[in-house]
Amino acid sequence: AAEEGFDIEDVEGAIEAAGHGPLPVLAVVGRPNVGKSTLVNRIIGRREAVVEDKPGVTRDRVTYEAEWAGRRFKVVDTGGWEQDVLGIDASVAAQAEYAIEAADAVVFVVDAKVGATDTDEAVVRLLRKAGKPVVLCANKVDGPSGEADASYLWSLGLGEPHPVSALHGRGTGDMLDAVLEALPEAPAQTFGSAVGGPRRIALIGRPNVGKSSLLNKVANEERVVVNELAGTTRDPVDELIELGGVTWKFVDTAGIRKRVHLQQGADYYASLRTAAAVEKAELAVILLDASETISVQDQRIVTMAVEAGRAIVLAFNKWDTLDEERRYYLEREIETELGQVAWAPRVNVSARTGRHMEKLVPAIETALAGWETRVPTGRLNAFLGELVAAHPHPIRGGKQPRILFGTQAGTKPPRFVLFASGFIEHGYRRFIERRLREEFGFEGTPLHISVRVRE
Ligand code: GDP
Ligand code: GDP
Repeated sequence: AAEEGFDIEDVEGAIEAAGHGPLPVLAVVGRPNVGKSTLVNRIIGRREAVVEDKPGVTRDRVTYEAEWAGRRFKVVDTGGWEQDVLGIDASVAAQAEYAIEAADAVVFVVDAKVGATDTDEAVVRLLRKAGKPVVLCANKVDGPSGEADASYLWSLGLGEPHPVSALHGRGTGDMLDAVLEALPEAPAQTFGSAVGGPRRIALIGRPNVGKSSLLNKVANEERVVVNELAGTTRDPVDELIELGGVTWKFVDTAGIRKRVHLQQGADYYASLRTAAAVEKAELAVILLDASETISVQDQRIVTMAVEAGRAIVLAFNKWDTLDEERRYYLEREIETELGQVAWAPRVNVSARTGRHMEKLVPAIETALAGWETRVPTGRLNAFLGELVAAHPHPIRGGKQPRILFGTQAGTKPPRFVLFASGFIEHGYRRFIERRLREEFGFEGTPLHISVRVRE
């Protein structure tokens, strides 16, 4: 590396940074108007999020990446719900439950100026039950005079209240230090139980695509629902289902089965649920309704799974209803609308008739294999060497940026770091990704490719 002009520490640092596994998840929960969204904005250090959202506007994004003191994690914001849907307590409880479920640690936000309310107490009970580490944020302490208000919150029994002004930033650093202490290095949900345990599948898709029908079909026909296996799981929302001789854990199925019918805010709950399920899973089976046009909502769900770095299988349901013409147009739509997951294995199923259900497991296995693929450094560099020689980067400003060497820094999904002599254009990165896929497979998995340029 040194002779190529890279400092060995640079190289090691870049590989380490790129090689991180899935990030631990922090959920921010609390009553409406306590300042959750303001706090999330503060934590992610962007104005992009959510406070500006108008009531009733559906927010499709609920997870954000954040970094504090060199550690990265994800933040789930639960600020987007509508309080008139279920009545205040039930709404807070429902959104908090989803978020806590998906989280490795929780920031519980209370309005210190108001003090603890009955709704706050209800959330405290949920938090106790869930047993996840909690950091208590006493928000709206905008100056020293508010500190006394914060100290009353000791009464919640959640330990030290951290006085914070999400609005002005006061105290957020100390609180984030506490968050880092509470957060595990790696997400327990995703990898803690991975060793030897069943693989975790999220069955996701917009309302009415047939998730519940499909789940019932696989659970009933292939049978063996072994939820009560001693000591394996206390998690009532997950279901163990045996398919193709293997036990799989379908995560977060309660929301699919329960079918809480909400009018307002239903989309928001659906997004939160999808995000929670995706966080907990290794692989997402994304269900689409083949009889209907692929929608923006479908694409958002796809993007969510891709951005989370999960293995992906596309399942086109309701195949029994398709005529010749629809089949023709569907293929065109898939090409134009689902280009970002052109690499995902695809099955055409019918939850009603059971058509092609047996193809689901091989597709899942293929995608998980792609997700876990590791290319040895020697092989990767032989491939890169040939590629760069045969297809050099276009010359820019009289110079020709070159990929000098690369390494795979991690798996699940595969993460590559490429070291280059100059800026590598987007188009050339895409080209490299395409060729990597042609050469090494990676079916059913997103790829992360980062490029380091020699100074
Ligand atoms: P959420 O419903 O819990 O997400 O709450 P928001 O983040 O939307 O905040 C509700 C209101 O409280 C907004 O008007 C914020 O500007 C205000 N707010 C949030 N944090 C603070 C704070 O630290 N101090 C003060 N004074 N107001 C805040
Ligand atoms: P979910 O909201 O995604 O859980 O969707 P459901 O499982 O509740 O299904 C929505 C509707 O689509 C129901 O009326 C189902 O009977 C119907 N449905 C589900 N799968 C199929 C299928 O494969 N073929 C047909 N024709 N209808 C289906």
